[in-house]
Formats: sequence, structure tokens, C-alpha cells
Amino acid sequence: MAVQQKYDFIIIGGGIFGVYAAIYLAGHRQRVCLIEKEAGMMLKASTVNQARLHGGYHYPRSVSTALMSDENKARFTEDHKPFIHFGFEQYYAIDEFNSFTDGVQFERFCNFIGIPCKPVSQHPLINFGRIESLYVTQEYSFDPVLINQYYRSKLKACSNVRICLNTRPVAAQAAGGGWEVEILNTAEGTRERISAGQVINATYAGSNAINDLFGVRNIELMHEISEIALVSSPQLGDRIGLTIMDGPFASMMPYGKSGLLSLSSVAYTHHKVSYEASPAFVCQQINLDCQPEYLANCNYCVAKPASNQKKMVAQIRQYLEDEVELNYFGSLFTIKSKLMANYIDDGRPTEIAVLNDNPRFYCIFAGKINSIYEIEKVVDLG
Ligand SMILES: Cc1cc2nc3c(=O)[nH]c(=O)nc-3n(C[C@H](O)[C@H](O)[C@H](O)COP(=O)(O)OP(=O)(O)OC[C@H]3O[C@@H](n4cnc5c(N)ncnc54)[C@H](O)[C@@H]3O)c2cc1C
Repeated sequence: MAVQQKYDFIIIGGGIFGVYAAIYLAGHRQRVCLIEKEAGMMLKASTVNQARLHGGYHYPRSVSTALMSDENKARFTEDHKPFIHFGFEQYYAIDEFNSFTDGVQFERFCNFIGIPCKPVSQHPLINFGRIESLYVTQEYSFDPVLINQYYRSKLKACSNVRICLNTRPVAAQAAGGGWEVEILNTAEGTRERISAGQVINATYAGSNAINDLFGVRNIELMHEISEIALVSSPQLGDRIGLTIMDGPFASMMPYGKSGLLSLSSVAYTHHKVSYEASPAFVCQQINLDCQPEYLANCNYCVAKPASNQKKMVAQIRQYLEDEVELNYFGSLFTIKSKLMANYIDDGRPTEIAVLNDNPRFYCIFAGKINSIYEIEKVVDLG
């Protein structure tokens, strides 16, 4: 099959990292083809996350992640102001029992990386019987749904970006100083051959399947089917966030500007784990449209795990006073991937690896949403 279209860049993966990269490159006069497997963009980790605009507090065991959070936070906040919920109180608490940290250590850590953290000795809605110490901090929540809409309209305005939805690459080879890629539109059953000087793999959980297809090395990942539960609360509204540090605990915070609170839990958010290079789960034996090489959207999957929402609600309830009601609204599921290197320190760096020099092939592995700008540091604009 002959090459039909030529581009400067092919970007595989239309999550926020692929979309941001496409807009950035288009702004630098690059011709881009953005390939997304699903019928819409940003429907996986870019929407299914806790929406925490990380200030660094969450990573007392990974100073590098904490510092990277801080480095990107100011710019992300400025660029996405209308989509950020600034007006809530964000508390971090140390559990009375079995915490990997304590108040002294947490304060020292915050002072070390220069993030505000003020001890609080009472709060009418928080159960001091269960916590060793409580801090009010400065951290915000972004709205993934509004951010999704914003970037989709920005992308529409980029005349030099072609967007291919319902599409995935099925063959790839280095040729003529660039890459030739065969793409399959699964909705229409059509195939096409395209080429580009450089390729960016922004497929997150799908990273290694694409790396294999291009014959480049894998990055070491582990994967978890994850659930974020959404609740509403008449007493808390969307005015309070509470994260219990540091160990097998829980977190609750406003899900952007939705008016809901998102719950996540170290023990209950992650349903199933895969240590394979590409996510392999038993549910893929039921849903044959989801395989390690081409993952489906867990939210629409008939074989997704039963919700852990009751356990998540019960867990966070322990840290709240009895009068606080938490009413379950629904859950979002996706595959969360992590670098194996951060298994111990719990860090979530964003790493962009050049896995092939000539022709260029980049693999973005994103730890946090506010690090979308990292692509600007490495990409070759010719
Ligand atoms: C449960 C959870 C909680 C999180 N909490 C936070 C948080 O509070 N704050 C924060 O900053 N970050 C958080 N994160 C991390 C953050 O969500 C991710 O780092 C970020 O969304 C990754 O974006 P992405 O664009 O790389 O991936 P995605 O949004 O997953 O996008 C990848 C895209 O690639 C597509 N794709 C995959 N394979 C192929 C293929 N073969 N062909 C074509 N397309 C393909 C997918 O369909 C998808 O649209 C969380 C993540 C999870 C899962």
C-alpha cells in the first residue's frame, strides 16, 4: 500500500498529553496527524483521575516528583484558570495509626520544598479521634471535563492537525529517514498508509504495545484497573478536601467544578494489578474488544469490576464527624499505569524517552496532568 499522506509528526494517543503536544506542534508550523483509538478524545486517564492539581504534598517519599509538581503548577494554573476550583479548603491529615509519616516529618518535608502547610487544631466536620495531626494546605482541583472541552475546541482551530478517531496503528517501519505507519479505522474498516519524520507515543497504559509495534524498547510499567468514586455531601459541599497521609489511606476532594467530591483509596481504588509490559487482565477474556495491545474504555465495559464505592465511603467516613453525609453519585473506571521504578517511593514523574534517534520516536509517560509542558523541553522542531 502506497503512502497517502505525509506529516511532520504522527502522535498516537488523544489523551491530554497527545492533544497538548499536537496543539504545541501545530503552533510551531508542524503538520500533525493525531491518532486516537476511541470515538472521542481524553476519555481515559485524562478524565478518570482525582483532578488534584498537585502541589507536591502527596509525595513525601519522592522529592523529585514533589518538586516537578511545583515547577509546573504555576503555569498550568495560569493557563487553565477558568477550569480550576480555587475556593475550597484542602486538608492533609496524618492518621493516628500505621502512617508511614508523622506530623513532624510532614511539616519538615513541606518546609523543605517550600509549600505552605499550617497546623489546625480543630474543625467541626473532621474527627480528631482518628488523626494525629491536621494541616491546611494550598492545593487546587482542575475540572477534567471542562479541560477536555477546552482542548477539543483549541484543537479544532488547528488547521494543520488531522484528527483520526476510532483509529489505531497496525504496522510501522522506519523508511526514507522517517516512519511509515499503517492505520486502521475500526469504525469504517478502512486502512491507510501515512508517514512522518517523527512519532510521539502518548498512549499511557498502551505505551508498550505501541513501542513493540515500532520495534523500540519497552518502558517498565505496572498497571491497575482503577476506580474513582464520586459523591455529594450537603455538609461538605465542594468546599473541603481531605487527604490522609501516608500509607494505605484515602483521599476526598472536589472533582473540579462539578459540585461532586471524588474519592480514592490506596486499598480500594485499585481493583486488579498487571505487572506485564502491556496491561493483561482476566476481564479481557470476557471483553474480546479489549486486549493488551488495544485497550478499551473500562467505563463501558461489561466485564469491569464491581464498584468498591461502599468501602471507599466507609473508609473516608472514619475521618469525618458523624453528621457528615456522603451520597454516592457514580464511579469512573480506567487503567492506571505507573513506572516500576516508582513502586517503592510512590513518585509520579512524567518521563519522555527518546526510544529511537533516527528516525525520532518519543514515548511520553505521564505521571501528572500539570506536566503537559514537558514535551516542549525534548521535542525536535527541525
Ligand atoms: C485513578 C487515577 C488518578 C489520578 N489522579 C491524578 C490527579 O489527581 N492529578 C494528576 O495530575 N494526575 C492524576 N492521574 C494521572 C493522570 O491522569 C495521567 O498522568 C494523565 O491523564 C495521562 O494522560 P495521557 O494523555 O498520557 O493518557 P490518557 O488520558 O490515558 O490518554 C491516552 C490515549 O491514548 C489512546 N490510545 C491507547 N492506545 C492506543 C492505540 N493503540 N492507538 C490509538 N490510541 C491509543 C487512549 O484511548 C487514550 O485516549 C491519575 C490517574 C489515574 C488513572
